[in-house]
Amino acid sequence: NRLGTLTREELAEIDIKHYLHPTTPPKAHYLSGPSTIFSEGKGIYLKDVEGQERIDGVSMLWNVNLGYGNEELAEAAKHQMVKLAYSSSFSGQSNEPAILLAQKVASLAPGDLNVCFFTSGGSESNDTAFKLARFYWKIKGKPERTKIISLEQSFHGVTVGATSATGIEGFQNFTTSNAPNFLKAIAHALNAERGDKSDPNYARSIRGVIEAEGADTIAAVIVEPIQGAGGVRFPPEGYLQAVRKLCDEHGILMIADEVICGFGRTGKMFGVDNWDVVPDLLCVAKGISSGYAHLGAVIMREHIREAFILSDEMMFHGFTYSGHPMACAVGLKTLEILERDNIVENSRLRGEELLKGLKYLESNHKHVTQVRGLGLLAGIELLKDPETGVPFDPSEHAAAKYTDLCMDLGLQLRYFDWKGTNTVALAPPLIITKTQVEDIINRMSDALKAFEKQI
Ligand code: PLP
Repeated sequence: NRLGTLTREELAEIDIKHYLHPTTPPKAHYLSGPSTIFSEGKGIYLKDVEGQERIDGVSMLWNVNLGYGNEELAEAAKHQMVKLAYSSSFSGQSNEPAILLAQKVASLAPGDLNVCFFTSGGSESNDTAFKLARFYWKIKGKPERTKIISLEQSFHGVTVGATSATGIEGFQNFTTSNAPNFLKAIAHALNAERGDKSDPNYARSIRGVIEAEGADTIAAVIVEPIQGAGGVRFPPEGYLQAVRKLCDEHGILMIADEVICGFGRTGKMFGVDNWDVVPDLLCVAKGISSGYAHLGAVIMREHIREAFILSDEMMFHGFTYSGHPMACAVGLKTLEILERDNIVENSRLRGEELLKGLKYLESNHKHVTQVRGLGLLAGIELLKDPETGVPFDPSEHAAAKYTDLCMDLGLQLRYFDWKGTNTVALAPPLIITKTQVEDIINRMSDALKAFEKQI
């Protein structure tokens, strides 16, 4: 093969002709080609094929939590691939890495979340959780409990079920392919979820939707502890507890989508640990293998497993790559490193420094506001005038411009400009050092100076 032999131009030409990219406007891509062609990475640093270096301030897609070039993870993959690259987990067949990973995950997950169903990623995990929730109700003799409630501005993935649950409007443009029985509620209406009928959002809240539809038609409610792609949106204090209580009140299953938050991103092992909430099903992916292998899981509580094992029903669900030995070996090694090297604590401590740095930017730069963060998941908002709350005109593409300026200074961040917002997201690898956090803040500050001149 020709790996490593072609120039950027040659690669770009082939890319344009043969490669349809996810979440990329096909026409613009056809005209301009790939914005970056990555070639290597080490720690928090990435290089493209022309040798340009940058800091990955978002762990690529919030997933490369242990950073790049980790030889232990590569060794774990190689060792397992040579030993047994693949085995099925159907019909009761099993393999050592999957068994041990399930046990390790159970030991880390809160409460009695003790049983894993393995998938290859976040969308598959969420789709699996929806199906398991419905299967649970079927074998409990309540097959009419089929509806899934999710939040506006949520992101749960792109398979048909996960897209149908996703609340970011842009992802709903394949409307005809949305599955039935998915309902949306307004995000973070704390008072309404606590039962306050005077809340103007009551009818649109999860509680309002449950009441309108009838609790006995609802299988589950799914929430991200902190909304990621929706714009790094934090729930108000007490919100997750209120959702847990609401679900308990109506016997509805609570699903936590921890695809971003899981495994240390928020400075605790799981996002829900920040609020001492134990969901019935907890979906993970990304951080479980630090992006080195495609792996996800649905972790479920004992009462769900119990229902399944007391039933004679066959569970017709599973992927060829459920419990993939190589992916699970990488997952096991990832979790071993997380614990051995105190990575979750590093996430918490570096997160505090990052938040402090972002607040410094807010005090010293005109357009920065609404700084928020927990562990190494953080966001800022760019406003034309934070004093009066006047936003930038959407035609100014402020967040896109700012992240481009960061990129010019060797810092990769992500932006979200849903509904006229200009959110900039940060989620650096959890192995980041104090000096590297300072470096990110300095680059962001320099980019803000350039932004103030340009905008
Ligand atoms: N859920 C959340 C919260 C996510 O952020 C993502 C991806 O970004 C997904 C689900 C989908 O995961 P995947 O892309 O692995 O299918």
